[in-house]
Amino acid sequence: MFESYKSPWMDEELQIMRDSVARFLQKEFVPLSAKWDKQGFVDREAWLVAGKAGLLCASIPAEYGGGGGNFKHEMVLVEEFSYANVTGFGNGVHSGIVAHYINSYGSQEQKKKWLPKMASGEIVSAIAMTEPGTGSDLQAVATTAIRQGEHYVLNGQKTFLTNGITANLICVVAKTDPAEGGKGISLIMVETETVEDDGGFARGRNLEKLGMKAQDTAEIFFDDVHVPVENLLGSTEGRGFVQLMEQLPQERLIIAAGACAAIEKALKITSEYVKERKAFGKRIIDFQNTQFKLAERYTEAKLARVFIDDCAMKLAEGKLDGTTAAMAKWWTTQKQCEIVDECLQFFGGYGYMMEYPIAKMYADSRIQKIYGGSNEIMKLLIARDI
Ligand SMILES: Cc1cc2nc3c(=O)[nH]c(=O)nc-3n(C[C@H](O)[C@H](O)[C@H](O)COP(=O)(O)OP(=O)(O)OC[C@H]3O[C@@H](n4cnc5c(N)ncnc54)[C@H](O)[C@@H]3O)c2cc1C
Repeated sequence: MFESYKSPWMDEELQIMRDSVARFLQKEFVPLSAKWDKQGFVDREAWLVAGKAGLLCASIPAEYGGGGGNFKHEMVLVEEFSYANVTGFGNGVHSGIVAHYINSYGSQEQKKKWLPKMASGEIVSAIAMTEPGTGSDLQAVATTAIRQGEHYVLNGQKTFLTNGITANLICVVAKTDPAEGGKGISLIMVETETVEDDGGFARGRNLEKLGMKAQDTAEIFFDDVHVPVENLLGSTEGRGFVQLMEQLPQERLIIAAGACAAIEKALKITSEYVKERKAFGKRIIDFQNTQFKLAERYTEAKLARVFIDDCAMKLAEGKLDGTTAAMAKWWTTQKQCEIVDECLQFFGGYGYMMEYPIAKMYADSRIQKIYGGSNEIMKLLIARDI
């Protein structure tokens, strides 16, 4: 059913890219996906392979080593990773989020230093907002970066970092002026190779999760870690909260786009299964319960697709507002969880077996309602605009 629908933002160039990304994933990443799930991280080598294939920093200008595309190119990547059920590769954070912070707020020197290596996969990046004591309430972060001469001295603890074990460049949300609350927040880029030897920087264990098994998620610790003042993102301190707010619509749409594609994949594999599997002498699709439930869910999938396509086009033009991005994030991820759960039910006991993709999709879907701003926070943001 979805094959006959063409997103209005797709064109020939994007279709060529889509086909080549799909082929790349089937050849290079799908065969390794189960191994990555088991070991709890994606092989470091995979980032270099992805860089070579042009999968990293697709929407970063070519002069900084990126693909020179826009958000539509990121959409193609997010969707194809989701269709391929390769959920552990943290490219959304790396290319979709951190690279854009650098591109939007970094100096020429910072862009030239980091972006080309991020595009090649030599640098893997992470973003450190969440702390053990605060997640939703970002203004309450307790990590400090106090200027002493030509350095910031970082103290504090961050948790739940996607790519936290692998990353060698971390965008840290810290207070350069704790007395100023939210207005004292800045983004400091920490190059782990330069601080790893000074003894104050440490990574915690790779956290064991319910789903997203191949994604390394970790805590990090700062104890008097010295970072050069040139690693402040942007020319002035105290702009961090505004920078975060400006970039969050893109982060939220990346999550929503992944949710939308996961819904489509779940319905596709479920439709195939219910046409094959028989009970009481009939195919599962022949029961009216199956037909009605799938009819309802296909309708919701179509609504999600039209909404997300509209958001993607607006974002590519720089016109997506924060409220609409929040709507897209909460609604699609809520629907993803409901629909994947309902699809799993049609597989019966097989749906609970990890060898069936729907089981992995079920486990992976749950986090979507929590990270990138929980769905309750999304509703707060929408309500503020009423
Ligand atoms: C797999 C994974 C990957 C992640 N990746 C990253 C990452 O790369 N970088 C990063 O910085 N963080 C990351 N996170 C953290 C994630 O963004 C936070 O977990 C999330 O923002 C929620 O924060 P919290 O866990 O502290 O929950 P809390 O803020 O403690 O919230 C707990 C509950 O209370 C609700 N709540 C809170 N405030 C309100 C309110 N005002 N009104 C109503 N309800 C409210 C929340 O919705 C939630 O249900 C990741 C988390 C996971 C699990």
